[in-house]
Amino acid sequence: MSNSIRPASFNDIIGQAEVVQRLRIVSHGCLNSSGVMPHTLIDGPPGLGKTTIAGAIANELNANLHVVNAANIRSIKNILPYLMGIAPRSVLFIDEIHRLPKIVEEFLYPVMEDFVLNITIEDKPETIDLPVFTIVGATTSGGRLSQPFYDRFTIKEHLSFYSCDELAKLAGLNATKLGLNVSEDDLLEIAKRSKGTPRILNARLQWYKNYISFYKDKEVNIDEIFNSQGIDYRGLDVYDRLYLEVLVKAKGNALGLKSISSLSGIAIETIENSIEPFLVRAGYVHRTPKGRVIGTMQ
Ligand code: ADP
Repeated sequence: MSNSIRPASFNDIIGQAEVVQRLRIVSHGCLNSSGVMPHTLIDGPPGLGKTTIAGAIANELNANLHVVNAANIRSIKNILPYLMGIAPRSVLFIDEIHRLPKIVEEFLYPVMEDFVLNITIEDKPETIDLPVFTIVGATTSGGRLSQPFYDRFTIKEHLSFYSCDELAKLAGLNATKLGLNVSEDDLLEIAKRSKGTPRILNARLQWYKNYISFYKDKEVNIDEIFNSQGIDYRGLDVYDRLYLEVLVKAKGNALGLKSISSLSGIAIETIENSIEPFLVRAGYVHRTPKGRVIGTMQ
């Protein structure tokens, strides 16, 4: 579902207005001067639109988009085919770029700065010229890139969570694309249960569609639809609540990530990347130098 409703251009993107406007200005400048779009790093929690925005950049530049996930790049040999086959002025989107091994990061420095590959062929160092192109990196943990790599991205953008109104608008558009007729009230309630995240909103909408189609002869309300999936009125799911319960039990004492992980059984990476960003932003949790502390529960 998500691919068919992924916006293709800047104009179709809801929210992130300032980020999109800055990228529009830069890509417009590149098109006007026949320049190349500077390397761009997009950082933010999962599902907020990093991939979507990378696609929109390529679309705006009328450029080819090549996509690679850094989790699949374990050595220089793995990234070489992408670089050797790169078309001039295209966009190479590297998802989860913080996962690149250091040796690959370092290999990319001359590629990013001078568009050259320094490789060794039959024990002889060789330099191969590449066409100019743009790397767009996406990461959920900008802080995990080494400083020299981070510095080589001229443009750095951070995506933040969407407001309820933005998500309700998106829910309306996507409901229409799914052939669903949803009341304004329900659109807002679906948005409220989406943790500020378009990907979650799309999943909630799909569940809503499946549920009302399955129970088409029965009157159903929004709480019932989502409670049946373990989603509460705040949009929190079973893992969010498990995490929060651990902190509630700590009675205001700060807990480190490792302790929360072992007490809840949730992996540290999942806590850091998928659970905490929204809970912190919503004020349910505070990060302090001593650890995590429970915040205001509504
Ligand atoms: P990320 O790369 O940050 O994990 P994606 O770009 O894959 O997130 O977005 C997840 C889904 O949410 C996409 O399939 C797209 O349909 C939707 N989406 C994300 N951002 C937006 C947006 N700003 N406007 C409309 N839809 C969006």
